[in-house]
Amino acid sequence: MKKIVMKFGGTSVGTGKNIRHVAESVTQYAKDDYRVAVVVSALAGVTNSLIETACQAKKSEEKHIETFSKQLLQKHLEAIETAITSKQIQKEVTQITEKTISELEKVLTGICYVGELTPKSKDYVASFGERLSAPIVWGAVKDHKLETQYFTGKDAGIVTDSNFGEADPLMNFTTHLIQERLGPLFEKGIIPVVTGFIAANQDGIVTTVGRGGSDYTATILGVALHVDEVWIWTDVDGIMTTDPKIVPTARMLPQLSYQEAAEMAIFGAKAMHPRALGPVIKENIPVRIRNTAHPKNMGTLITKEPAANETKPVKAVAMIKDVAMLNVNGAAMVGAPGSYAKVFDVLGKNGINVMMVSTAVSEANISMIIKRALLGRAISNLEIALLERGGVLSEVTAEDDVAVIAVMGANMKGTLGVASKIFSTVAKKGINIRMIAQGSSELNISFVVKEKDGVAVVRAIHDEFNLDKN
Ligand code: ASP
Ligand code: MG
Repeated sequence: MKKIVMKFGGTSVGTGKNIRHVAESVTQYAKDDYRVAVVVSALAGVTNSLIETACQAKKSEEKHIETFSKQLLQKHLEAIETAITSKQIQKEVTQITEKTISELEKVLTGICYVGELTPKSKDYVASFGERLSAPIVWGAVKDHKLETQYFTGKDAGIVTDSNFGEADPLMNFTTHLIQERLGPLFEKGIIPVVTGFIAANQDGIVTTVGRGGSDYTATILGVALHVDEVWIWTDVDGIMTTDPKIVPTARMLPQLSYQEAAEMAIFGAKAMHPRALGPVIKENIPVRIRNTAHPKNMGTLITKEPAANETKPVKAVAMIKDVAMLNVNGAAMVGAPGSYAKVFDVLGKNGINVMMVSTAVSEANISMIIKRALLGRAISNLEIALLERGGVLSEVTAEDDVAVIAVMGANMKGTLGVASKIFSTVAKKGINIRMIAQGSSELNISFVVKEKDGVAVVRAIHDEFNLDKN
């Protein structure tokens, strides 16, 4: 008997029909003697619309709230009708749904009156997506005559810090609570259906673990329930060598190490939440990315060691768009301890995440990659800092038409000539490289080109390293 946590993403539960399909698949595995715990995301698009509406409510636009709630109710009622056949279960789930939506309406109206949306209240609003989807999935599983029980992340025992919007679990406490609350029923073969993404802090206030965070919930649960594997059911076949929209011959990678997968998740292989692997790495629990639409396909298996037969140094190449390059220059930075700290301090205090850094040993220039949308804020705040008397910064410049290309693979470590091959491939295309970074982990070489050249670069590298062939 195998124990599996199965997480179903937003598109996998996007419609009533899809939810039915999910319930059928869970039923099949349960009948094949698998112990299954289910984690669900909100219906596709719902989390975005909740956050958007909360932002409108903050501007005191009350009229949207009623229409929004009505539409949201309609969407979920339609899903209930298609996903569940038993009238009795339909009725039960409908009641939960109506109650949940009326609570949401009150919360949004509250935000509207106060005219304020705090990270705390934003998390609370965002939590409604999963609070609405999980009961439907639960009802659909129950419809198949299986024993099942529905939990919010909070009820399941996921306790996090109070970093609203990006909370992290207190793993020991959480494990203890999950074992206590879910463990006995899971062992008996009763299927827990748990909301992904949402949890609570120690005071019981709702938190979320970051966008796309249902994956994280799944691995947290997987560790607590000591499962054999965590399966992330999504709408792609697995982690690919690159975006198939850029290179149609892109190949699914059958096996990756935790380190490689984490690297790729960060670089936007949108298959997984970047922090999701944290819990399973420690316990050495494999994770599998699978496609709900192609259940025969075993997807990408993520384990401790990279696959023995995948020996190529480069395994994947990604393009990260919507970024900007920020350069800080200043002769006074040379040999001045703390000058880089000052730059990062200004950015950090203004909520600007630095994605990539490069500086030369001359120390007179530091280049950073940040999200493009934050560029204005970054420049203005650095300029304010720059005006300080005796400051070490003298000039801030930026380019907003760039993209990062990340080339990844665990076997790049110690393999000679990879960088030279990458850069000569780019040079042969007549494309100029603006910035380069390679961490000493050697798992990843990232560089920056003009965004208009990004697609050509990805194609050339994919081709040069024969990534479409094993
Ligand atoms: N519903 C949440 C989001 O869209 C979490 C998830 O889908 O994993 O970010
Ligand atoms: Mg989602």
